[in-house]
Amino acid sequence: MGTGYVFRCKDCGKEYGMSFGLGFGYSDECQKLRQAALSGELGDEWRRIMSENEYYIIKAENYLYYCRNCGRWEFGPKLSIYAPKDLEDLLEQQRGDKTVREWGYDPWGLMSKEDYKLIRRYRHVCPECKKAMKQYGEHDWESFHKLHLKCPDCNGELAFDESTGIMWD
Ligand SMILES: [Zn+2]
Ligand SMILES: [Zn+2]
Repeated sequence: MGTGYVFRCKDCGKEYGMSFGLGFGYSDECQKLRQAALSGELGDEWRRIMSENEYYIIKAENYLYYCRNCGRWEFGPKLSIYAPKDLEDLLEQQRGDKTVREWGYDPWGLMSKEDYKLIRRYRHVCPECKKAMKQYGEHDWESFHKLHLKCPDCNGELAFDESTGIMWD
């Protein structure tokens, strides 16, 4: 389940789509983020922690990040790391026609929130001013559509497309 929104630049017309929540390919996204962490793409600390246990996962849910200081924004997955609360118990759980142990990973990932605990919180920091960015999830759209986001290309004002906000399964 997820929601998608579109912002359009009033000056250059460029569109920015934001897809929140758990859509299709959620499990693949979790696997991709895991690989990115293991390859060192997300930094040394993330590589070290993720290599400690093959059932640690990174949430593939997207968020909008906004710097209240300079107005810079980014859209992308939250990179916090979650660990199974009880690994033995998780391995025996049925995911479709196989257990997590048989899959070799948890294809449902964080959709089964009660099975995981947060072990390392990722702080999204503004690349410009190094301040912590504020995070907005799909249910915060009433706040973030009032942020007056600027177009990263031309610095024009972005308009929220009222016709968007599509839900999908
Ligand atoms: Zn623009
Ligand atoms: Zn900033």
